Amino acid sequence: MKSYLIFYPHCYIGKGGNGLIAFDTIARKFVMTTYTNVLKSIDANKNIMEIPTIENEQYNDFVQECITDNLAYKIDANVMPFLPQNDLHVISSYSKTGELHNKMEGYFLLDNVLSISLYLNNKTLDFVDETVSQQIEYPCYCKNSQIEWNIDGFLKTLDGFPNLREIKICGDMDETLENMLKKLTCYSVTIRTAGHNLPKRIATNLRCHNNVKFEILLLSDENWEDALDYEHRVVLSPIVFKPSDVSNFAGKRNIVPIPVIIDANKQSSLIQEMLIDFSDIVNAHNSMDNIKIKGQYNTTYYGHITISTDGTLQCANKKYGSLKVSNLIDILNKCVHDEQSPWFLSRNKFARCSKCMFASLCPDVTIYEQQGVMDKICTL
Ligand code: SF4
Repeated sequence: MKSYLIFYPHCYIGKGGNGLIAFDTIARKFVMTTYTNVLKSIDANKNIMEIPTIENEQYNDFVQECITDNLAYKIDANVMPFLPQNDLHVISSYSKTGELHNKMEGYFLLDNVLSISLYLNNKTLDFVDETVSQQIEYPCYCKNSQIEWNIDGFLKTLDGFPNLREIKICGDMDETLENMLKKLTCYSVTIRTAGHNLPKRIATNLRCHNNVKFEILLLSDENWEDALDYEHRVVLSPIVFKPSDVSNFAGKRNIVPIPVIIDANKQSSLIQEMLIDFSDIVNAHNSMDNIKIKGQYNTTYYGHITISTDGTLQCANKKYGSLKVSNLIDILNKCVHDEQSPWFLSRNKFARCSKCMFASLCPDVTIYEQQGVMDKICTL
């Protein structure tokens, strides 16, 4: 007769070169070990471990702790009990249809797009170059109008995106942006714009368009009081270069700071503030479903595309082609077939984290890590 330790279905087993964590996603209790024989004998996909018959103190301690903390129970059986696979199964016909005929993929390809950011003009924020643009999701600075592709033609195709949840328009609050708003009355629209001296214009647009929300980018020396009437539809996003840049906003609601890292050496105090530690990881809200999805996708970027002012389609910091010269289906095809796409960049595929037991418990790989401006986001 053999003995098995069976973990409850809501317990996640994370294995890596640095050890093993058995994590209760409801009570947020956990047991950890670095004992390699335990790591070898646990099948993390099925949440089961065969307990060896030989007496071993490290094994016994681990088993006992898991039982005492209600993460697992022990059974005796002649054969290993059947337990269903615990991981996420994705049924996809991408590869099959790809082999058959490239164009067939167009039938379902647009289903993958959940949100689109469209970049318009930025004649205001002069520090925004390509790196900063990707970090704050805002067009690069250019003092002349920069839209060089058929954006109106693209807007007419939006009906073809069945799962599109949000359109984000990013750029100066100018005539171009306001004209575009009139064409998007059937969509949930977020406008991300720089807040320089524009409260009246923003208030007017909030009154005229019920489908519109604002994300207002602010520099540290700007104050913003007039948006309070529309608090539920306005988020203030201070652009943060150093920790003190958010001090003006302490205690205010609807504040979502956006850190900008240009030079990691000079901004070490900001980077220190951004790092997560062990307690952040184990106290984060992680359901079992969420953990499984994070094991395969980057949930921040999956389904999100950005189209720059010159018509370049990109996912996070990766460019896939220009709508000036290629059609949308061809460009999206490249993205969904690219295993290195930011859409699929989960932590367990990211070089620095792939051997870490916390990979599926940590937040998604950030733009700062993808760009290489931060080499890690944790203190571990
Ligand atoms: S960020 Fe990476 S290395 Fe740090 S704890 Fe998370 S998975 Fe591990």
